[in-house]
Amino acid sequence: MAAVTSTPSVPVTADQHTTVGASSTRGGSRVVIIGGGPGGYEAALVAAQLGAAVTVVERQGVGGSAVLTDVVPSKTLIATAEWMTLTESAGDLGIRPRGESDASFEADFATVDARVLRLARAQSRDIHAKLEREGVQVIDGTGRLASPAQVAVQTADGQQLTLDADVVLLATGARPRVIPTAQPDGERILNWTQLYELTEIPERLIVVGSGVTGAEFAGAYRGLGAEVVLVSSRDRVLPGEDSDAADLIEAVFKRRGMQVLSRSRAAAARRTETGVEVELTDGRVVTGSHCLIAVGGVPNTEDLGLAEAGVATTESGHIHTDRVSRTTVRGVYAAGDCTGVHALASVAAMQGRIAMWHALGDAVAPLDLSQVSANVFTAPEIATVGISEQQITSGEVRGEVVTLPLARNPRAKMLGIREGFIKLFSHRASGVVLGGVVVAPRASELIFPITLAISNRLTVDQVSNAFTVYPSLSGSIAEASRLLHDARG
Ligand SMILES: Cc1cc2nc3c(=O)[nH]c(=O)nc-3n(C[C@H](O)[C@H](O)[C@H](O)COP(=O)(O)OP(=O)(O)OC[C@H]3O[C@@H](n4cnc5c(N)ncnc54)[C@H](O)[C@@H]3O)c2cc1C
Repeated sequence: MAAVTSTPSVPVTADQHTTVGASSTRGGSRVVIIGGGPGGYEAALVAAQLGAAVTVVERQGVGGSAVLTDVVPSKTLIATAEWMTLTESAGDLGIRPRGESDASFEADFATVDARVLRLARAQSRDIHAKLEREGVQVIDGTGRLASPAQVAVQTADGQQLTLDADVVLLATGARPRVIPTAQPDGERILNWTQLYELTEIPERLIVVGSGVTGAEFAGAYRGLGAEVVLVSSRDRVLPGEDSDAADLIEAVFKRRGMQVLSRSRAAAARRTETGVEVELTDGRVVTGSHCLIAVGGVPNTEDLGLAEAGVATTESGHIHTDRVSRTTVRGVYAAGDCTGVHALASVAAMQGRIAMWHALGDAVAPLDLSQVSANVFTAPEIATVGISEQQITSGEVRGEVVTLPLARNPRAKMLGIREGFIKLFSHRASGVVLGGVVVAPRASELIFPITLAISNRLTVDQVSNAFTVYPSLSGSIAEASRLLHDARG
């Protein structure tokens, strides 16, 4: 890693308005980043490595929503829920309560939520410390473009600064979408950033929205012991996912006692004396103790001075970017959820890094979304990478599909795993691996060999010639590859 030869320093004086000039660094460029989530902080690390004077302006806390309200808290909560579901197959594996005592577990919700918040704050502190070690200046405040080469900052302690910049990166993320007739109150009607203030498990949680966020929370709270009603406007849950995977998860949800209301759109959510009621567009009313609204996000792009600076946005308010994260204004880049490219922390981070490599003249490959692996953290998990089966069945891609149920895998049998599958897609003529779906416990880990195969353009024969451990779940990936060789013949 290149040494940062001078630490950029932003003078915070008693002046109401301070203009900050260039700091002298090896790279010589002044980079100002608005937003300290994965898009912003990963970019900051790259820019510092390349010798730039880097300032991150962040109003909520380093790590951004990803660390403080979204990825880290949700996956920490889900970790507890996952342990609770593991006991489902205990009987099959010969585990029974000792004597007459009740050996079942319940989640101590206050402890669970305290752990969630503790972990998120600790992760934020770790990233803050890492940025400072690398010489990045972090300002606690709200930034906006004053011009393409200046960022105006209102600091948390009431000062106004103007930072001169050779490069600006906008990485301001997104926030939960609000349904006007279902305004969150933070007590009974909640968005996902407000969940962790609860000290008791909701008795009956109505989750509005069955996309990834809604499905993950619905599954987790059911696992933790809440009654859950999932309100889904579509035919099935997880409409954006592989249809076999989504069907399987819906069946698992129902088996665990979740009520799934398909083709049901929420019109409004209201507090009642004892809880909350959700009115559906067809007039039905669902009652519960709490309601979680999970209907997607909107970009944080208002009040950023975009139009005045000439930065173009889409109708939805996302910032236009190209594959090297450039906006329509020279020297101004954007990364992450504010661009609407792909709402994943991993993609935000890559967009941010690419922006800095491009802006600071390092070698850079444009963003390639065909290699992004993604995971739905339900139990079991759904991991996907590459093309979808639908692209093959529609004729868009000339490919082959093999699906192997995990129930036939020897390791899965030993572990008591009955649900899940491995699906692999290859190119019909060349046998090159094009994509895959894994539905299994820890699918997020099992998808990696398929991602590696795709990014290295490996054929199914090359994958199947590699040794897998016997017995192992990954053995089914090799077996699916072998079957795809047969499909070619
Ligand atoms: C519940 C949930 C779970 C998720 N789980 C996953 C997951 O498991 N894996 C995954 O890859 N993705 C997950 N995501 C998506 C992921 O959280 C986002 O893609 C990621 O946070 C995007 O990073 P970002 O840097 O663009 O924005 P953010 O993480 O939102 O950070 C942007 C930061 O900018 C700050 N900011 C905004 N405007 C200003 C301003 N004017 N001045 C100063 N600061 C400002 C914000 O306060 C925020 O802190 C999840 C999302 C949700 C909602």
